[in-house]
Amino acid sequence: MTVSANFEVDLHLHTTFSDGTLTPTRLVDLCASRGLKNIAISDHDSTEGLSEALKAAEAHPELTIIPAIELSTDIPGSEIHMLGYFIDREDPELQATLSRFRDGRFNRGRLMVEKLSEVGVEISWERVQKLSDGGSIGRPHVAQAMVEAGYVKFPKEAFDRYLGRDGIAYVERPKLTPEGAVAMLVQNGALPVMAHPTYSEVKSSRGGVVDLRDTLSALKGEGLVGMEVFYGDYTEDQVIYLKGLADDLDLIPCGGSDYHASGNPGEPEPGTVGPPISTIERLTAFERLTALKQETAGRPD
Ligand code: AMP
Ligand code: ZN
Ligand code: FE
Ligand code: FE
Repeated sequence: MTVSANFEVDLHLHTTFSDGTLTPTRLVDLCASRGLKNIAISDHDSTEGLSEALKAAEAHPELTIIPAIELSTDIPGSEIHMLGYFIDREDPELQATLSRFRDGRFNRGRLMVEKLSEVGVEISWERVQKLSDGGSIGRPHVAQAMVEAGYVKFPKEAFDRYLGRDGIAYVERPKLTPEGAVAMLVQNGALPVMAHPTYSEVKSSRGGVVDLRDTLSALKGEGLVGMEVFYGDYTEDQVIYLKGLADDLDLIPCGGSDYHASGNPGEPEPGTVGPPISTIERLTAFERLTALKQETAGRPD
């Protein structure tokens, strides 16, 4: 779907602190220049880009940043990604868990490079680490090293042939269950939102969640507050279907571009897709309520 309209809300963005290729400052400047008013920075397994992003936003008083995260979880044969909005970065338990996940990503990255070598694709592990620049190492870094070495034209091609779930160089890493991710975010005081619940054409190796309605409904019982509806390259039909589900289940309809500045052709840019401003109002109201509940729970009788 080619969308040219400008939206003011984009709740799914990545920086160099995970597998995006723009620094938080460059991303924030880009979002401001595109007229965005509310954005969430949602790096994989890291909140470390947030301080730079918040600092950069001081130059753009019209732009508000929601601190966020994206966690990957395992389901049989596939995965579900969970976003957490208004994440408390000062939580030591959260940071210890994230640090473990990043170690898992590091080890998995090295094993993928070894597996690639076994099938004649020679890329350097040092180069992959350099591309990740100290952030969470992801498959897009491996894919980028493959582009540079001339094995594939675009990162997406590396996923299709090697790095996707059914690819010859795919390696698992320890992940949470969806319920575990929701619990971890609730414990932190963050608002859990299911990311890209169904098939994405751009991210070809990713299917949809089977039994989506039941899964969402069960996770809502654990504390899920929303789901992505207005996402990336979703078609109008996908959006209508997901909006219907969100309304039925009383989940807040969220979304965003999932921008990585990846170099893939057709990647949706920040501000080309996103939820309405009412989503921000609903999320903010929920977050106030959550903070109030935590405060009351922590108060002595
Ligand atoms: P990882 O976190 O290492 O499992 O890598 C997952 C990330 O790879 C996603 O967040 C996307 O940014 C990217 N990705 C997944 N599937 C594809 C695909 N088919 N083409 C391009 N990028 C993809
Ligand atoms: Zn990513
Ligand atoms: Fe994701
Ligand atoms: Fe993402």
